[in-house]
Amino acid sequence: MPDAAPSRHGAATLSIDLEAIAANWRDLCARHPSGPVAAVAKADAYGLGAAEVVPRLVAEGCRHVFVAQLAEAVALRPRLGEGVLVAVLNGVTPGSEEVFIRERIVPVLNDPGQVALWRSAARAAGRALPALLHVDTGMNRLGLSARDVERLAEDAQSFAGIDLLYVMTHFVSSELPEDPLNAAQVARFATTRARLPAARTSLANSSGIFLGPLGASDLARPGAALYGINPTPGRANPMRCVVSLDAPVLQVREVAAGETVGYNATWRAERPSRIATVAAGYADGYLRSLSGRGVAFFRGRLVPLVGRVSMDLLTFDVTDAPDLASGHTLRLLGPELPPDALAERAGTNAYEILTALGERYARVYGPVRPEA
Ligand SMILES: *Cc1c(COP(=O)(O)O)cnc(C)c1O
Repeated sequence: MPDAAPSRHGAATLSIDLEAIAANWRDLCARHPSGPVAAVAKADAYGLGAAEVVPRLVAEGCRHVFVAQLAEAVALRPRLGEGVLVAVLNGVTPGSEEVFIRERIVPVLNDPGQVALWRSAARAAGRALPALLHVDTGMNRLGLSARDVERLAEDAQSFAGIDLLYVMTHFVSSELPEDPLNAAQVARFATTRARLPAARTSLANSSGIFLGPLGASDLARPGAALYGINPTPGRANPMRCVVSLDAPVLQVREVAAGETVGYNATWRAERPSRIATVAAGYADGYLRSLSGRGVAFFRGRLVPLVGRVSMDLLTFDVTDAPDLASGHTLRLLGPELPPDALAERAGTNAYEILTALGERYARVYGPVRPEA
């Protein structure tokens, strides 16, 4: 494991493998022959560090980046060349137009109000301004409804001054390939698009790419799969694991049979036990719902988390790992225990596991290696 900065000694080490992320991007490109593949890097590249991840993907050839919020785009823009499109999924809000224009950030227009705002901004700027248009086909979250599109289509001036780069929509259930909603959304998208000015299309998120021809468009928008989350749940994960988390053992203690561990004494030793206390907790995004359900690896052996997850500490039953001592590390996340597996134990999805990863870890950008 690479050495952490001295100020982070005693903290867990989060390794993030930029080469594996780049390899995942190339893999997705090969699976989406109908058009280029963007990088969705919202929420700090799903917790992995957009400032590191996005320039690496741009070096690999990626030319389209999506974030959720304007501030995320403003932070990234100076790190990327002029040839890279930086788009804000949440769109433009009144008063923010100038920032978009000055920083050369492109909004995704999600409703008639945002379309009108961008049309006015273009008129004021005296030139056409680029934008993407999001049409809703079933998510009912963001995006123009079919009725919105119908109304806008009645007025030839609706998109005056707007250079429509892409019309996009977002799948509701692309990770469930058998769900008829996928095909229904694609059909709705085709109908809606026909009423709009000609523009390229953007359809698939990570799982959408794995729908094959149904998910094909002029621009795919994966996030999760880049970061190693399984885009094909229930089947083997085709993506490379890009993170590992190794937490130092602060203390190993003997606990007599009948004694309890942690807050509210939720775990009781049934035999004389050895408990390893490690430096990570729910304040680091190690979800409290993993209390009594988490696991870690030590030299290839699985050790169960016992008792409650605390704010800064976790306790593992290492009775069956007699060679473990204070100063060793336990693997909390990695190829042996990928985010999807930990998520299942926590009752959530891998997206939440990654985006929760805390700020206190020593972050190292380097290869992710097997634990033992
Ligand atoms: C988050 C998001 C994506 C990426 O989805 P993944 O499932 O992470 O690949 C694509 N498009 C939109 C509109 C999104 O909000």
